[in-house]
Amino acid sequence: MSEHTYDLIVIGGGPGGYVAAIRAAQLGLNVACVEKETAMGGTCLRVGCIPSKSLLESSHHFEHARRHFSDHGINVGEVEVDLPAMLKRKERIVAGLAAGINGLLKKNKIARLNGTGRLVGEGKVVVANADGETELSGKHIIIATGSRSAPLRGVKLDGDLVGTSTEALSFPDVPEHLVVIGAGIIGLELGSVWLRLGAKVTVLEYLDRILPGIDSEIATEAKKIFEKQGFEFRLGAKVTAAAAKDGVCVVEAEDMSPITCDRVLLAVGRIPNTEGLGVEEVGIELDGRGRVIVDGSFRTNAPGIYAIGDVIPGPMLAHKAEEDGVACVEGIVTGHGHVDYNLVPGVCYTNPEIGAVGQTEEELQDSGVDYRKGVFHFRANGRAHSIGSPDGKVKVLADAKTDRVLGVHVIGPHGGDLIAEAAAGMAFGASSEDLARLCHAHPTLAEALKEAALAVDGRAIHA
Ligand code: NAD
Repeated sequence: MSEHTYDLIVIGGGPGGYVAAIRAAQLGLNVACVEKETAMGGTCLRVGCIPSKSLLESSHHFEHARRHFSDHGINVGEVEVDLPAMLKRKERIVAGLAAGINGLLKKNKIARLNGTGRLVGEGKVVVANADGETELSGKHIIIATGSRSAPLRGVKLDGDLVGTSTEALSFPDVPEHLVVIGAGIIGLELGSVWLRLGAKVTVLEYLDRILPGIDSEIATEAKKIFEKQGFEFRLGAKVTAAAAKDGVCVVEAEDMSPITCDRVLLAVGRIPNTEGLGVEEVGIELDGRGRVIVDGSFRTNAPGIYAIGDVIPGPMLAHKAEEDGVACVEGIVTGHGHVDYNLVPGVCYTNPEIGAVGQTEEELQDSGVDYRKGVFHFRANGRAHSIGSPDGKVKVLADAKTDRVLGVHVIGPHGGDLIAEAAAGMAFGASSEDLARLCHAHPTLAEALKEAALAVDGRAIHA
């Protein structure tokens, strides 16, 4: 076997790709992972989930110190932001975690190849970098190339004043006025960071609601809470142009006067990365949105080539990509690998957080499912008051006949953590009665889930 021959070549070192590589190595395969960036971890680690959560945490502390410490009887005087220090902390966290992935690859004896991978034929990948090109042979190939920010016609991205989430993770100073295009998760998470740090934030959203895909009752509650925090939303605003000139940005939308601001964040979705990958050369089929078409075992139509994560249909989430990677590799090695997409939780890391798993109320209505609903507000939860976060609610949706839980939606403190219990319950086929009968420690936020489950049957104690 030549040194460039592998059982599996993974193209892409994000959460989908590197996790697939590790699982394959655990199962005894000889694996190479090709990544074009110097740091492993993909969008999630380098310019996505981790840096945004670092800044969300830092900005939350600032906001807390400025506005809420005095509620606790703590006086700290004037509180200032040291933005360079905040950005350095974020970079340290990213660098540390990226080094951790390198360590994991080494420990699992995975060849980490730095360069751009391109499919050149059945079982063949060429890796190009500054030193030239190397051809690799692989019995199996997994495409895990992820996604990138979607452009918008008329919006002139300049990598600085008019930018995407990547730029919004490293603004050198706090903008006076930031205009966010798109009220999705990226727009609201990064909008929250700069709002808390002192910017005026205006969000322009094409739809008549925020957070598409999130249960609309929860999204309506979120909008009210975010408006109280200072977000300005303009719904039904179809942005047609944005550009910077002489240090000033102008954003135009249909039926609206132009807005001038000092920075623009474009956050209107993400598109799969297949450019330059050689998909046409090997005849891989893409769908109308440029995503690689796969079957239930992540197989593309090209023999021996699989695809996972953001580059295939499904939610563009790091944890979904990880699940895809594990299931794909287990499918290759053992013949069995499966992801239940109904149980992939989604979290929006605003304050309060939004967590969801299963179906939304609209989805149940659209599919004609007869359901019962229980809602419980955090304002009736003791722990939420103790931590100063009584906003939000938990909603449990259960089948009217069988009582099986079909969806759980939370907006509230630590909503992203609370949803894990709901996902576990649903994975084991829990009924709302099961969740309601589980003993939950007091005082915890998780009691709100128990109470919402009790509320399905009209029995919430503290309602
Ligand atoms: P999104 O699709 O969630 O939201 C984009 C918004 O832009 C939509 O509401 C859309 O209606 C609006 N829009 C589109 N065209 C417009 C126009 N011309 N004018 C005004 N508004 C317009 O996209 P996103 O927030 O960019 O996120 C991209 C992906 O990344 C999503 O799949 C998201 O789930 C994922 N993501 C997840 C997390 C997380 O799990 N916490 C964090 C970041 C990103």
